[in-house]
Amino acid sequence: QITIDKIAAGEVIERPASIVKELVENAIDAGSTSVKIEIKDGGISFIRITDNGCGIPQDEVQRAFLRHSTSKIETVEDLSHIASLGFRGEALSSIAAVTRTELITKTADAELGTRYVIEGGKEVSLEDTGAPNGTTFLVHQLFYNVPARRKFLKTPMTEAGHVQDLLMHLALSHPEVAFQFLNNGQEKLRTSGNGKLKDVIYNVYGRDVAANLIEIDYEKNGIHITGFLGKPIITRGNRNFENFFVNGRYVKSAMISKSVEDAYRDFVMQHKFPFAVLHFHLSGENVDINVHPTKMELRFSRQQEVYNTVFEAVHRTLLEPEL
Ligand code: ADP
Ligand code: MG
Repeated sequence: QITIDKIAAGEVIERPASIVKELVENAIDAGSTSVKIEIKDGGISFIRITDNGCGIPQDEVQRAFLRHSTSKIETVEDLSHIASLGFRGEALSSIAAVTRTELITKTADAELGTRYVIEGGKEVSLEDTGAPNGTTFLVHQLFYNVPARRKFLKTPMTEAGHVQDLLMHLALSHPEVAFQFLNNGQEKLRTSGNGKLKDVIYNVYGRDVAANLIEIDYEKNGIHITGFLGKPIITRGNRNFENFFVNGRYVKSAMISKSVEDAYRDFVMQHKFPFAVLHFHLSGENVDINVHPTKMELRFSRQQEVYNTVFEAVHRTLLEPEL
């Protein structure tokens, strides 16, 4: 079982950012309104994630670390619904298989919390402990027992950059959650959790960007687009300014990028890319969910229609009089 977990872990856990992604998504699933993320050495030696969510009851802690163990799938219908949202019930077992992990968790109705330690997939201890409501994960020494994978890790600075990018996207897709991110004790990102996307954009990109936004809200062909576009005076030399979310999930899509850039063509200089934070709310039949779950690249089953709708939405918004 431990070997299988180690192999399975390779699918889910590639680098510190993969661990942070799984743990923060779990924290959000648990109803947290506040999530604190701390890393050291790019997350290779130390990751701590503290949430104020529902916690895990003591008698469910061990089970949560079993492969394919999830409390989130109830029906077959659910399965197809969330098929694109990541591996189900594999994160904790995978993380525990390739790290030294410590969990402290407490539900609101329990008097005491639980401290659980698991190293390389082997349980070390399970005991009562005093703790605040919510869950804290401490993850030490990624790949300490898998040297072959450790070799593929980049420098702490690069790994920290991946974590920062990830958290930026998670913050932009969850304005209702207050995020705090510290790298080696230094605060790198902080959002208020007040639910306002514009405020998150301010926190992530700063005042110059936040002062030059155009709100977009457009619905057609079963595609609802909301969010903010940058005025044509704010551009970048690369696509890092483009943030797309489909049904709450950060995605990369060459087609959406092209469509947005084409709509900006008459307004910005060549080789300049617009700022955009666009949320796409679509019904299932528009999205091809048969893509690798950890990949952010997704395909649409009705490409041309999606392209046209996005183009029109962006183009019309840019032509609005207040510009
Ligand atoms: P999944 O998220 O797909 O269900 P995971 O392996 O990520 O699988 O987590 C296993 C289970 O552990 C979850 O279904 C949930 O019940 C519990 N869990 C994990 N993290 C948290 C958390 N931060 N707060 C509350 N429960 C959690
Ligand atoms: Mg999970």
